[in-house]
Amino acid sequence: MTTDVNENLLAWLKDAHAMEQQAEQMLKAQASRIDHYPELKARLESHLQETLGQQELVEGCIKRLNGSASMMKDLAGRMTAFAQAAGGMTQHDEVVKGAIAGYVFENLEIACYTSLIAAAREAGDTETEQVCTQILEQEKAMSSWMLNHLPTVTRDFLVRSATPGQKAKV
Ligand code: MG
Ligand code: FE
Repeated sequence: MTTDVNENLLAWLKDAHAMEQQAEQMLKAQASRIDHYPELKARLESHLQETLGQQELVEGCIKRLNGSASMMKDLAGRMTAFAQAAGGMTQHDEVVKGAIAGYVFENLEIACYTSLIAAAREAGDTETEQVCTQILEQEKAMSSWMLNHLPTVTRDFLVRSATPGQKAKV
């Protein structure tokens, strides 16, 4: 039994769509809980908007390839333990742990879209290749932002934690 290039491409696009749904859940949960880290909150919210756009872009590629939107329902609401943990953290240092988990998630996305671009190229699907390249740039920008701001988030958390009467958690 063989699986042709287009079948693999379609399956991976569906995985990417499910991944973006996880991203939406995680970003929503994190952004809504944060009160005292306005820069981080704003960046999570702006990437949430990008993520919703990415879902539509990927969905467009899926529909173009097989025309069926019914598969989307199976994926809706699917959520990994990872995204759940990252979005609903309740430890005292959840803002730091969440920022680390967010960075890791962006890099999962970077790897998936890098692979998808190669698959789309192999399939000769220029539109999917362009869509994935566009999304990849957003994921790279978010990944860099998270990594660059990890020291600040960590320091702010430590300072708040050591200051009487300040809520440091989120
Ligand atoms: Mg994404
Ligand atoms: Fe992302």
